[in-house]
Amino acid sequence: MSRPHALHARRFAVHRWLMPLCLATVLSACAPTPVRNPIAQWVPSPNYDARRPVLIVIHFTNEHSASQALHTLRTANSGGPVSAHYLVGDDGHIYQLVADSERAWHAGAGHWGTITDVNSASIGIELDNDGDSPFTQVQIDSLLHLLADLTDRLRIPRTQIIGHEDLAPGRKDDPGPRFPWQQLAQAGFGLWPQGPLVDPPPGFDPWAALGLIGYPLDNRTATVHSFHHHFRGMDAGINGDALDGQDLRILYALSRQLGAGGGITGVPAG
Ligand SMILES: [Zn+2]
Repeated sequence: MSRPHALHARRFAVHRWLMPLCLATVLSACAPTPVRNPIAQWVPSPNYDARRPVLIVIHFTNEHSASQALHTLRTANSGGPVSAHYLVGDDGHIYQLVADSERAWHAGAGHWGTITDVNSASIGIELDNDGDSPFTQVQIDSLLHLLADLTDRLRIPRTQIIGHEDLAPGRKDDPGPRFPWQQLAQAGFGLWPQGPLVDPPPGFDPWAALGLIGYPLDNRTATVHSFHHHFRGMDAGINGDALDGQDLRILYALSRQLGAGGGITGVPAG
């Protein structure tokens, strides 16, 4: 046997020892033992796949560059580790940091409708923005491209797109009043009042409408603040954090679109 053959034979012998070890390591890394409930008998079924999110939450990074935000989203910070599934730079570049099937740490405390653990149920998208500057059009174009991909591929309803401040009024202020929700709506994403706005009938309950949309109601002033950011934007007509006539018209339109105009007014939705 020539020397090269001897070397090859030794390598093969080593491989014969190492391969089962590697295989075991790979298997244990890729397929952890399922978490079994000790109070039940384990009778596994092959008929399942990964759970899918049902909501998309939009944020701004409140930082000055995408690289600064990437550092924050990929390290342990003094305020605790945070992440998101995606970051869209102000130049339109799309980064993915966490797989769609995994639970990124972007929403924190808060709730939306009956969703009480928003991180478990959602995809988080961070937009590279300092909180005071307008969003760039190329960034919004990339966001629309990403929203089309996510809603198609993960079958998330296109209306199920909200801002961080919507689920956490008073605690969060992003994506703020500069975020172009109306432009998203024109592209078919998010909830937005349709058609001419009309005054609601007597007895219309705006708080029931806000709750129906999904808003938390534990701090009503904070909820109106978040609602104004989302549906009135930089509208100069907004006076403080009280609901005005235009808010009521918007809420009435939204409640009718959600099919509950009659349910919260006592008047059938026409
Ligand atoms: Zn946020």
